Amino acid sequence: MTATTTAQAVYQHYLAHLDGCRPCRVEQPCEAGDRLRRALRAARAAAMDPTNSRRDNGGL
Ligand SMILES: [Zn+2]
Repeated sequence: MTATTTAQAVYQHYLAHLDGCRPCRVEQPCEAGDRLRRALRAARAAAMDPTNSRRDNGGL
């Protein structure tokens, strides 16, 4: 799996979480949402940076 598809998969996961998470929908603190947002940022950063793509081992 490439870093780009990992970022897309994390984003899908995040959207699915938003769908069922009331705190996230009203912008309240949510531990799971925070974790997903961090993972998404990291996955996107990896997708942007070609030097990172080799380290992508699907660790999520
Ligand atoms: Zn949430």
